[in-house]
Amino acid sequence: MGFAQQSQSHTPDQGGIPQEWALICQRLQAELGDATFRSWIAPLTLTNATSGMVQLAAPTRFMRDWVASNFLEKIRNYWQDINPTIDTIDLIVKAGTPVSVAQVAMADPMVVASGEEVDIEGSFIGSTLDPRFTFENFVVGKPNELAYAAALRVAESATVQFNPLFLYGGVGLGKTHLMHAIAWHIKKCHPNRRVIYLSAEKFMYQFIRALRYKDTVAFKEQFRSVDVLMIDDVQFISGKDTTQEEFFHTFNALVDRNHQVIVSADKSPSDLEGMEERLKSRLGWGLVADIHPTSYELRLGILQSKAETLNAVVPKDVLEFLAFKIASNVRELEGALNRIIAHSTLVGREINLEMTQDVLRDLLKANDRRVTIDDIQKRVCEYFSIKLSDMQSSRRSQNVARPRQIAMYLSKILTPRSLPDIGRKFGGRDHTTVLHAVKKVEELMGSDKEFLEDLTILRRTLEV
Ligand code: ADP
Ligand code: MG
Repeated sequence: MGFAQQSQSHTPDQGGIPQEWALICQRLQAELGDATFRSWIAPLTLTNATSGMVQLAAPTRFMRDWVASNFLEKIRNYWQDINPTIDTIDLIVKAGTPVSVAQVAMADPMVVASGEEVDIEGSFIGSTLDPRFTFENFVVGKPNELAYAAALRVAESATVQFNPLFLYGGVGLGKTHLMHAIAWHIKKCHPNRRVIYLSAEKFMYQFIRALRYKDTVAFKEQFRSVDVLMIDDVQFISGKDTTQEEFFHTFNALVDRNHQVIVSADKSPSDLEGMEERLKSRLGWGLVADIHPTSYELRLGILQSKAETLNAVVPKDVLEFLAFKIASNVRELEGALNRIIAHSTLVGREINLEMTQDVLRDLLKANDRRVTIDDIQKRVCEYFSIKLSDMQSSRRSQNVARPRQIAMYLSKILTPRSLPDIGRKFGGRDHTTVLHAVKKVEELMGSDKEFLEDLTILRRTLEV
């Protein structure tokens, strides 16, 4: 980028800094999700840039502090990824633009499941629902079937069956998606039920505002008058004593009146740190459903469904490659797919394995599971009970040649190595031999069920 060559101080509308910021914003949005992005990153403005330093302004001190403790490190790292000359991000509160009610409302528009804006003094507050986060768009597999079934049950039933519903699981595994899906479903099927969905951050933020404006009565009333209250990421409330206390009372008030409460967190109730015992125990009273890390099948299913939604033609081997390589979380997986599709649309390049590896170099590196050709050879030999030296030998008997072809195939799809590279690792064979092996294996996968099973199992064991 142009900025790297410039050394003088300059205003942000010259040079590459604004473009860099736009790119970083895109990346943060993909990673953090729209809601978090809108609340915390979008309100930041680029106010200044000198060599080595970029200044960003937040509209309030609260936001500045929050961004500083939660996102600053990430912003700095991402900036360095694209422009290594930037080593300092200066976060300031910009006095000239006090955050207005309008701005707060924009960051936190109230969305009720019935679709009406709730019109209450103090511009009260849920979070917007993402129209893509519906049950229809949720791909169900073993790791998430319990959470899915529980969410659907709560959304469908007119009476409260388990209270609260507590959904938990790691980052990017679909908690927020399921919560929005519940809200959308109720909005459609029970339009009279009043639903508020909001993140725990926002709950906290609103509570602090209410305290500041001495508006806590209205605050309490807001929450206690709903039929369904959903609070996402409650782990954020831990440690914050007054907010925790308030949340506990709200929670009790609703549950006592038999109103549905749905809560998500990154840990089970008993593992939530910094949370009072009585609250932990109450959170575990209803149904606790966890979402397990994704399996290869689920990731592949999600990619297929997503590509279909986007109307994009993505070759199967690319989807398989992504499902294999990006196992961290679904958000990254989607982000990767979006990136290759966007890239292909923008520069008119066909989507294939090579371009995928090219476009996603940084992401793949971060997710690198370092499966090597050596690992593959070793595992295949164990599986078929042959000697490791048979991988390099020139023996052509079927019981050796077939496993060797399988190992070549796996090397091709599971490592970034080229055909000639792979050939060299198999006793100095030619790249056309490797290509032939890949084709042969693909052919057998289609025609021989048992063969396909062997291959799937092998692949699975290399995946972990
Ligand atoms: P969490 O709240 O657990 O961190 P999200 O619900 O925000 O995760 O999910 C991250 C992204 O992954 C979202 O875009 C969501 O739509 C997608 N996603 C997660 N699980 C699934 C799934 N089973 N099917 C389809 N999309 C999913
Ligand atoms: Mg979430």
